[in-house]
Amino acid sequence: MNQHIHCIVSDCHYYESGNKCVANEILVATDQFGASQPEQVDAQMAMKLTPETAGNCMETCCKSYIPKNSNFTSSDSVKKMQ
Ligand code: SF4
Repeated sequence: MNQHIHCIVSDCHYYESGNKCVANEILVATDQFGASQPEQVDAQMAMKLTPETAGNCMETCCKSYIPKNSNFTSSDSVKKMQ
């Protein structure tokens, strides 16, 4: 599958010009889930997580966001695409 993820969050480690996300995988979750889980809960754990409903787009977030140049860059095992 030739999948593209478009994102406009420019201060994320995985953001590249052209509004592209270059993470190998990401986890999109409900805001409630994102706010209640630690940094380590991310895309690599997706198969084990219980699906939730959001209701509308305002209640979802990207759990894989990592601030550019932060100490959190290696806090998960998701690798940046070469
Ligand atoms: S990890 Fe999430 S916030 Fe970061 S560029 Fe990709 S989609 Fe955007």
